[in-house]
This record gives sequence, C-alpha cells and structure tokens, in this order.
Amino acid sequence: MISIKNVRKSFQTKQGTLTAVDNVNLEINEGEIFGVIGYSGAGKSTLIRMLNKLESPTEGSITIAGREISKIKGAELRKARQEISMIFQHFNLLWSRTVRENIAFPLEIAGVSGAERKRRVDELIKLVGLEGRESAYPSQLSGGQKQRVGIARALANNPKVLLCDEATSALDPQTTDSILELLVDINKRLGLTIVLITHEMHVIRKICHRVAVMENGGIVELGPVLDVFRNP
Ligand code: ADP
Ligand code: ADP
Repeated sequence: MISIKNVRKSFQTKQGTLTAVDNVNLEINEGEIFGVIGYSGAGKSTLIRMLNKLESPTEGSITIAGREISKIKGAELRKARQEISMIFQHFNLLWSRTVRENIAFPLEIAGVSGAERKRRVDELIKLVGLEGRESAYPSQLSGGQKQRVGIARALANNPKVLLCDEATSALDPQTTDSILELLVDINKRLGLTIVLITHEMHVIRKICHRVAVMENGGIVELGPVLDVFRNP
C-alpha cells in the first residue's frame, strides 16, 4: 500500500543543513495498523507529513496505492489527498463551526451535493459515536469527543490511508483507550490502512501490528510489535 524508498528530508536552517529523515526504507501493507515511535525530534512528523505531501522528500520516492506521490500535482494531488487523510494531536477543528459542519467541510470542498452530504455526515456521526452532539461547537466538547470529530472528518471522503500524528497525546489514559478502540474498529470495518506516530509505547502495544523505532531520522528497529517490544 505504501512504499518508502531511500527517502531523505533535509531542511536548510541558520545553523546549516539539518537532516530530519535520513535514508528511510519502509513498506506498509494494506489494512495494517503501523506505528512509528521515537523521542521528540526523531523525525516522525516529517516522515508522516511526506506521506500526504505536506512536505516533499529531498531524495527518494514514496508510492501510495500505486501512485508516486512525490511526482504528482494539480487535480491528481487533490485526489491523492482525499485518499490519504490525517488526524492531529490538537484536533485542528474549525472553532466557529458545529460538529456537523466540521464533518461536512471536506465533503463541501469535494463538491458533494447537499442531500448526499447530509446522509454521509449522519453515517459518520454514528460511526464515531457522536449522536446527540451534532449541533455542539468544539469548545463544548471533551477532548475525546473533539478527536471523534477529527476522525469523522478525516473519514468523510473514504480515504485509503489514515495518518495519525500523536492523535491521543493530548488525552487522558481512559479517553486514549476509547479513541484507540475506535481506530481498531474503523480499521476492521473499513479495511483502512492506519499509520500512527507516537512517543507512547502503550499506544503501540495496544493497537499496532508492526512498529518502526526512529532515532535521529533513521529507523533503528522494525518488526511485529511483540518482537520489537518483547519482555526479556
Ligand atoms: P518528531 O516528530 O519525531 O518530534 P520532527 O520530524 O518534528 O520529529 O523533527 C525532526 C527534526 O527536524 C527536528 O530536529 C526538527 O527541529 C527538524 N525540523 C522539522 N521540521 C522542520 C522545518 N520545517 N524546518 C527546519 N527543521 C525542521
Ligand atoms: P510536533 O509536535 O508534531 O513534533 P512541532 O511542534 O515540532 O510538531 O512542529 C510543528 C511545525 O513546526 C511543523 O510544521 C514542523 O515541520 C515545524 N518545525 C519543527 N521544528 C522546526 C524548526 N526547527 N524550524 C522550523 N520549523 C520547524
């Protein structure tokens, strides 16, 4: 599903060239929940941001669902961005819009008609368990409910891949577990490929099939979670 080949990403800074991701090779399978763990500054965000072209690699290639995303632009890039959606640590919701309007937003952008949009939003609200909160504003929601809105919005255009950038790091442990359970449920029900980055071992142990450990821009360990984190 996702193939990352010899990818390097460098930034030019006042101090000189900073290599955030260094010669990474990775294959992520369709339907997999894949975790990337590492300390702050390891390069996780930069890696995941290259998967939806928020950043472009300095070197190497990234292919998702048969498309080499480092090469596409225009309409094809917009299409690819619908297929690869993302949720964030701080939710990135529109604060002046209700739950319903937040979830409808990507459908509006994609030009989905009013009636179809309503049907789809109702379905998404049910999927993430936000029935009864449709008219609330983000400021009236708990952290877990806000992330449920983020998830519903991310799923609106039926993506093939869901990227999660520290999606539970702002939540308490109990809420974290309920959001992780929702992600597992979505993975099973929709067959969605999930790539998540985190600095929390617990998150990886709870839901990931395989994990890559990142350090200084490179992958230092890769394999099934039980092999990488086995107890001695
Ligand atoms: P992580 O997500 O693991 O915390 P990041 O990918 O955010 O790591 O950062 C990796 C390194 O790249 C850090 O040293 C960070 O400061 C640097 N970095 C990330 N984005 C930029 C940027 N836009 N410009 C310059 N340096 C950056
Ligand atoms: P995260 O919490 O996901 O690691 P950060 O707060 O480190 O994210 O970074 C937020 C944004 O700032 C990202 O777009 C990242 O690319 C950028 N960034 C991170 N480090 C630097 C840096 N040293 N110089 C410029 N931009 C940076």
